[in-house]
Amino acid sequence: MSENTLVKEAPYHPGYEDAAMNMSDKGYKEANLADAIRFNMRREGKRFWAGDNISEYLHEGDKEILIKEATKAFEGVLDTLLIDHENDPNSQGTAKRLAKMYYNEIMSGRYEAAPDATSFPNEVDDGYKGMLVVRSELRSMCSHHHQPVVGVAYIGIIAADRLIGLSKYTRIAQWCARRGTLQEELCNDIAREISEATGSKNIAVYIQATHGCCENRGIMAGSSLTQTTVLTGAFQTDMNTKKEFFDNIKLQQGYAK
Ligand SMILES: [Zn+2]
Repeated sequence: MSENTLVKEAPYHPGYEDAAMNMSDKGYKEANLADAIRFNMRREGKRFWAGDNISEYLHEGDKEILIKEATKAFEGVLDTLLIDHENDPNSQGTAKRLAKMYYNEIMSGRYEAAPDATSFPNEVDDGYKGMLVVRSELRSMCSHHHQPVVGVAYIGIIAADRLIGLSKYTRIAQWCARRGTLQEELCNDIAREISEATGSKNIAVYIQATHGCCENRGIMAGSSLTQTTVLTGAFQTDMNTKKEFFDNIKLQQGYAK
């Protein structure tokens, strides 16, 4: 597929003409959809760091085009690494597998809108007023090295006037995790999104995870474990609430093994 065909497939990106003109110093019009989307985000001051969700800049069908563009780019990387991806049977198709994996799996939380977290009223008189602690398995990736971050998040909340389904906590946590992140950033992101979905100002998030960038390279520390905690509201100001949260985590960890 020629690059110009790609643009015809996505003519609705208003920034495309500008993006193309912006690069006319090359003597021809660049026609990558990624260039057009990046141009739009820059023009509107939208941050697009590895941990940011940019789903509002993608239209239906864009992902397929972007995967084709990323495939070409990954082929270029393999070429530069001097890997014969045309003849090595194990490297044929690797560029496409990488492109699909980034868009559909390990970074899918950047390109997909927030999971639908319909909330239900927590009745004022008869409502649940206790603490809720949910254990969520996480798979993420560090934005420094694109190495896996594997661990678990414990999400604590004191219910406000809305409740969300139990699986939604994990869906939100995984949506935040499926990006390039730092664990500290991920902890903040999960706390913010859970607060937004539930209306609660009393949120705690504790993550423990191993980092591929410390295990597979660099320091090569096989048993390294990183712990991060974000506490808001009563979890921060009330020692009993904080203690109950960490006691709950110990109970959960006893149950999980
Ligand atoms: Zn790293």
